[in-house]
Amino acid sequence: MSNRTRDLRRLLARVLDVLMPQDCLVCGEAAEGCGVCAACLAEMPRRPPSACPVCALPGLDGGPCGQCLRQPPAYDATLALFDYVFPVDVLVLALKYRHQLSVATFLAAELRTLGEQIAADVDFILPMPLHARRLAERGFNQAVELARPLAREQALPMELACVRKLRDTPPQASLSREERLLSPAGAFRCDRALDGLHVLVVDDVMTTGATLDELARCLKAQGAARVTNLVVARTPAPA
Ligand SMILES: [Zn+2]
Ligand SMILES: [Zn+2]
Repeated sequence: MSNRTRDLRRLLARVLDVLMPQDCLVCGEAAEGCGVCAACLAEMPRRPPSACPVCALPGLDGGPCGQCLRQPPAYDATLALFDYVFPVDVLVLALKYRHQLSVATFLAAELRTLGEQIAADVDFILPMPLHARRLAERGFNQAVELARPLAREQALPMELACVRKLRDTPPQASLSREERLLSPAGAFRCDRALDGLHVLVVDDVMTTGATLDELARCLKAQGAARVTNLVVARTPAPA
């Protein structure tokens, strides 16, 4: 497909998205405005407040979990909105592979509900970088779509160019747990000095956290003082 055809198809999808009456993105019933009906919204798998503040997995009464105490990751904190289970998994896949703007709008609006938990000293928002090849394929970076409304509301700058993804790591879901933990080393490059800065990294899904850990390691190597992750969904703890 030529670039022009792809652009036209994307434009048409956007126009239809705006013109068509909204059905609930989960159950297909009529939904008012936000894309998900009230019944489905009430059932969304929100993360418990007792989660580990560092990795967002279940913790002990809001304190860091055993794993984070034993082997602290390079990032300092994680805010996660939902468990990565139905229907959040379906919504995220629709966002990523079908570029459903209504999904981006809904998830970005939900993400903004975590706004008051974002530390006041955050210096900028960094959407998880996408490898250039994947960006060309997909035509957009879903993390940017999620971060943009938040950046606007929080009056925070959004940095798009300071980190590049060097290696096109395979989708985390296609790897075994061991491979996932090993795969992202050396995957990012940052050329900007970040001395003393607090970076808020926005991503759609946190699986093992290995990619976010590697990105945080890269940011800390450039002098970042603190890295907080803000993700739409977190894979629940492995059984
Ligand atoms: Zn519904
Ligand atoms: Zn933890």
